[in-house]
Amino acid sequence: MEEEGHGIVIVGGGICGLATALALHRKEFRCLRRKDLIETMAKNIPAGSIRFGCHVVAIQQDPGTHGPILTTVDGGTIRAKVLIGCDGGSSAVARYLGLSPPKAIPRTVLRGFTAYPHGHPFGAEFLRIRGGGEFVVGRLPVTRNLVHFFVTMPNPPTGIMLATKDVSATTTKDFMLEKLRDCCAPEIVQMVQDSDPESLNVVNSIRYRSPWQVALAAFHRGAVTVAGDAMHAMGPFIGQGGSAALEDAVVLARSMSRANAAGGGHGAAVREYVRERRPRVALLSLESFVAGTLLRARSLVGKLACVAVLALLGTRSLRHADFDCGRL
Ligand SMILES: Cc1cc2nc3c(=O)[nH]c(=O)nc-3n(C[C@H](O)[C@H](O)[C@H](O)COP(=O)(O)OP(=O)(O)OC[C@H]3O[C@@H](n4cnc5c(N)ncnc54)[C@H](O)[C@@H]3O)c2cc1C
Repeated sequence: MEEEGHGIVIVGGGICGLATALALHRKEFRCLRRKDLIETMAKNIPAGSIRFGCHVVAIQQDPGTHGPILTTVDGGTIRAKVLIGCDGGSSAVARYLGLSPPKAIPRTVLRGFTAYPHGHPFGAEFLRIRGGGEFVVGRLPVTRNLVHFFVTMPNPPTGIMLATKDVSATTTKDFMLEKLRDCCAPEIVQMVQDSDPESLNVVNSIRYRSPWQVALAAFHRGAVTVAGDAMHAMGPFIGQGGSAALEDAVVLARSMSRANAAGGGHGAAVREYVRERRPRVALLSLESFVAGTLLRARSLVGKLACVAVLALLGTRSLRHADFDCGRL
């Protein structure tokens, strides 16, 4: 089987992998819907940079150079001078770095888009409400005619259909609608009911790294590092995982370009990237962790403790959107 050598190898073609590839090619981007974002970034990456179906199954350290050697699903091997793991919550690169897998919370999340051809009456505000104690519904207008929503609930006990992994998004939607009718305003029920079936997505397990792991873990070894969910999976509780992945891409590309200009090594660039990102992603992970804990807290004391920590972390609604990670 053929062996290849490359300067920079990015494992993973999700938001973070594409953003990192794009940032390393020095372009700017802005987008809201995941699909649009992914397509826009993929279109702007130079032809031939993305290799589809190239699943990395193992990574070893070369005993001579100490650099990583990747084995792909077709048996090929790739030697990389720089390896960036943007391969999500089950990251092979994170495993190579010795990181334990993210933890999982059994919770069902349904998300999708609803079109309002004649305009919706919701303004621009993000709304998050609790329904019937265990449901949380989020509503985020994207344009005058399009609204993004999510509904989360604890996974039903084993044996009930929704607890299985393969259940369809439409079945989940119907199950949730039945419950929402009892505890939510008619406009919320209508929004979920009228959602575009093609846009629906369901997950049954939410993965996250604990904030203390994000604060302390070794996120680099030589010129190998992780970004996006591979570094700081944080679930959907504050809706910042994807945004933080984009910030990672900008900071990493900037560190690499500064190190190149200064004649520094790749290892120093990667170290600088981790140093700069760690406080930011540790705080986001903490906030997301506490927000998720609040959702599941049963006791009043537990709830009050979560609310107090969240208040300490900040209450201004646009503070995350206003975060400036600097220019490329
Ligand atoms: C229900 C839900 C709602 C969310 N809502 C929001 C939100 O509103 N706003 C927000 O900012 N974030 C949100 N997030 C978080 C956001 O989705 C993630 O943080 C983001 O997708 C992370 O992007 P990523 O590229 O790091 O990882 P991923 O999107 O997981 O992409 C990883 C990529 O790597 C590939 N891959 C994996 N393993 C390998 C391998 N071994 N070899 C090769 N390729 C591999 C995968 O196929 C995939 O393409 C939400 C998450 C969930 C679960």
